[in-house]
Amino acid sequence: MFCMVLLGAPGSGKGTASKILKEKLNLLHISTGDVLRENVKNETTLGNEAKKYMDSGALVPDELIVNMVKELLNKPEAKNGVIFDGFPRTLEQAEALDKMLVEMGSKVDVVLKIDVPFEEIKKRMANRRTCKDCKEIYSLDFNPPKQEGKCDICNGELVQREDEKPEIVGKRLEIYKEQSDPVIEYYKKTNDLKEYKAGDEIGKNTKEVVDEFIRDIQGK
Ligand code: AMP
Repeated sequence: MFCMVLLGAPGSGKGTASKILKEKLNLLHISTGDVLRENVKNETTLGNEAKKYMDSGALVPDELIVNMVKELLNKPEAKNGVIFDGFPRTLEQAEALDKMLVEMGSKVDVVLKIDVPFEEIKKRMANRRTCKDCKEIYSLDFNPPKQEGKCDICNGELVQREDEKPEIVGKRLEIYKEQSDPVIEYYKKTNDLKEYKAGDEIGKNTKEVVDEFIRDIQGK
C-alpha cells in the first residue's frame, strides 16, 4: 500500500492538495478532521467526545485518533494507497502510524510539507466558507459561490466553521507550531520529506505546489 503524508498548518491548502493528489494518484484521502466532523454531525460516541476539543481548537487525544485511523486503514478502499491530511499531528501519532503500517507490511513512502506564512493563513481562513451539506469549500475572494451564501453544487447553506473564526484560528496555529516541529524532525530523520513554500508572498499556489511535487516523486 502506497502511503503519503501531507504536513502543513491548518489552512495551508492541504485539503485542496489532497483532492488533486487523490485523483491523479488514485489514493484514498483520509482527512482526520473531516472524519471527526462527520462523527460530530452524526453524534457518535467518538464525535461527542471529540467535539469539546475541536470547538476550542485543541487537539483530540492521540488514542482516539490512532484507533480511528486504524479502522480507516483497514477499509478495502485503502488497498491501493492512502493520503493522510491532518494526520499525524503529534510525534506519538507519527510513531503509531509507523507501527500500524509495519504490521500491514507497508511504510510511509513520501511526506509533503506545505509552508504558508501564518498571516496569509489567517486571511484565507477569514474568507473561507464551507457547505453545511456536501462540505465543498469556497473562498470569498478566489473562488466565491455563484449565489451568495449558497453552494453551487447542492444549494446547501454556506457557513464559517466554528474553528475558522479568527480567535480559534490563532490558537490552532499556535498548537500547530508547538506540535508539528517534532513530527517534521521525525520525518526528516526517517523518511523522504519534501518541503514546498506556498502562498501569495512567495507566489506559488497549491496547484503549482502539487504539480512540482508530482514531478519530483515521479522523477525519482
Ligand atoms: P483539521 O480540519 O484537520 O484542521 O481538523 C480540525 C480539528 O479536528 C482540529 O483542530 C483538531 O481538534 C481535530 N483533529 C483533526 N485531526 C487531528 C489529529 N490528527 N490529532 C488530533 N486532533 C485532530
